[in-house]
Amino acid sequence: MTSQTVRLQRREEVAHGTMAFHFDKPEGFSFRPGQAIDLVLSDPAVAGTEGARHAFSIVSAPHEGELAIATRMRDSAFKNALSRLPAGGAAEIEGPFGSLTLHNKVGRAAVLLAGGIGITPFMSMLRDAAQQRRPQRLVLLYSNRRPEDSAFLTELQRMEGENPNFQLLATMTQMAQSGLPWSGATGKIDQALLQRAAAELPDPVYYVAGPPAMVAGLRSTLEAAGVDGDDIRTEEFYG
Ligand SMILES: Cc1cc2nc3c(=O)[nH]c(=O)nc-3n(C[C@H](O)[C@H](O)[C@H](O)COP(=O)(O)OP(=O)(O)OC[C@H]3O[C@@H](n4cnc5c(N)ncnc54)[C@H](O)[C@@H]3O)c2cc1C
Repeated sequence: MTSQTVRLQRREEVAHGTMAFHFDKPEGFSFRPGQAIDLVLSDPAVAGTEGARHAFSIVSAPHEGELAIATRMRDSAFKNALSRLPAGGAAEIEGPFGSLTLHNKVGRAAVLLAGGIGITPFMSMLRDAAQQRRPQRLVLLYSNRRPEDSAFLTELQRMEGENPNFQLLATMTQMAQSGLPWSGATGKIDQALLQRAAAELPDPVYYVAGPPAMVAGLRSTLEAAGVDGDDIRTEEFYG
């Protein structure tokens, strides 16, 4: 896979402890919403080690003139190096890769299930669908501890208001620790919420992204609800 140099344009906090990094997009770079890149840093603390390379789903959509990623800023060597990268600083990317991309038949709905930073591949899909006016029913079930931790929540709420084909069902699992108001669902994504999401959707395909335990749990829940394994597509990662 060829490597290309990108420069950091800017960074922004998109939720508590969660940053988006916006890089310029190399000339001719193309990808499908839901795909990922490897980001390789040359910071001396990681350069030349396995820890210099991390995979990230692309958060931006193909029509945007930049490549954005988002991550929880943990105390790891890579993330400390990433947080030191100055505006204008260079990094290498390799890719795109990955097959967590929306199916072509727009007559079939898509139910997107995201846990925490697992929202990233779906942001690209949803931004692309809005821009393309994709004639496909899309439902996002988005689980976080608190609204404070929910990356891109405001943008998703706005998208729901603007795109009649898109429905957002966000749920919070630790509202007792939150200082923000919340009138939506609480608790984990369960069979009841899944049924609410999929009711009356045409022949949905399910996409799940989040930590491995969540992905495995939701696959079991979907299969127990009678969803064919071929109609469940998953990506596992810790943010
Ligand atoms: C296709 C793909 C797409 C990805 N997209 C994203 C993305 O959009 N955003 C993003 O933040 N990350 C994404 N990741 C994961 C990313 O590559 C890193 O692995 C992740 O961000 C953790 O990096 P770290 O530097 O914090 O931990 P590291 O120091 O790299 O982690 C060391 C070890 O700890 C494990 N670990 C890390 N965090 C946890 C945790 N919370 N609980 C338990 N174990 C943990 C790791 O699996 C690893 O084995 C993606 C991975 C893949 C394969």
